[in-house]
Amino acid sequence: MHLEKLQAFVLSNSDYGESDRIVSLFTLEHGRLKGFARGARNSRKRFGPALEPFARINLQLAHKEGLSSLRSADVITLYPGIRGELCAIAHGLYACELIESLTPEGHPIPRLYRLLASYLERLDSSLKGGDHPVPHHSGLNADRRMFEINLLNILGYRPSLHDCSRCGSGFDARGALIQPGGELACRFCAATGRLMSLDSLQKLDSCLTTSRFGQVAFDLDSLQMAGILLDESLATHTSRKFRSLEFLQQTCG
Ligand SMILES: [Zn+2]
Repeated sequence: MHLEKLQAFVLSNSDYGESDRIVSLFTLEHGRLKGFARGARNSRKRFGPALEPFARINLQLAHKEGLSSLRSADVITLYPGIRGELCAIAHGLYACELIESLTPEGHPIPRLYRLLASYLERLDSSLKGGDHPVPHHSGLNADRRMFEINLLNILGYRPSLHDCSRCGSGFDARGALIQPGGELACRFCAATGRLMSLDSLQKLDSCLTTSRFGQVAFDLDSLQMAGILLDESLATHTSRKFRSLEFLQQTCG
């Protein structure tokens, strides 16, 4: 059987039967796919820690539609900085769940692959005792929002940040109102909704023009408004609640 060599992030894994595991992968070459890891629970030798969530790995697999067969996997990095801090683990798991829930199977999205790589590197390095020996929660939150708006943009789900979604006129200094479903409307078109200031709209827009995390400096107010919009937008694209979101809210407060 033809074996392919791929690069991937492990999104999640689940036990199967007595000794096997099914692994959800986000590969550079084929996008999201499921791999069957025979004997992964019995023999740690074969796969080692390579099937842990958000591990970055090289792998060999027999590619089939539905369920591919995973033959070997080697760790590129496990992001040890992230694994040392519960709040960072929660952010990493959440990023993986967003990709697992929102991307189609078998469809390569290299831009999203690179975004996830940059995000995990950022999480990992910001926790290695460099800038903040104690994790800085608003910094982690700003990075999370940068990841989310870019993810929505790459998948074609980005809310319009410049113009009203109903009448098309540009937002003025009074900002916009957040509507159910994560749309933004002007004050002529909507009577109610949480305010999103022009500053917050512009900060979020800036997140799309830089590929580097940490470049956009949110103040707490604009970060909070951006968060309400993004939570609302993301929730409309899934039929069930993100499991890791509750864990994130509990651990990061
Ligand atoms: Zn309008």
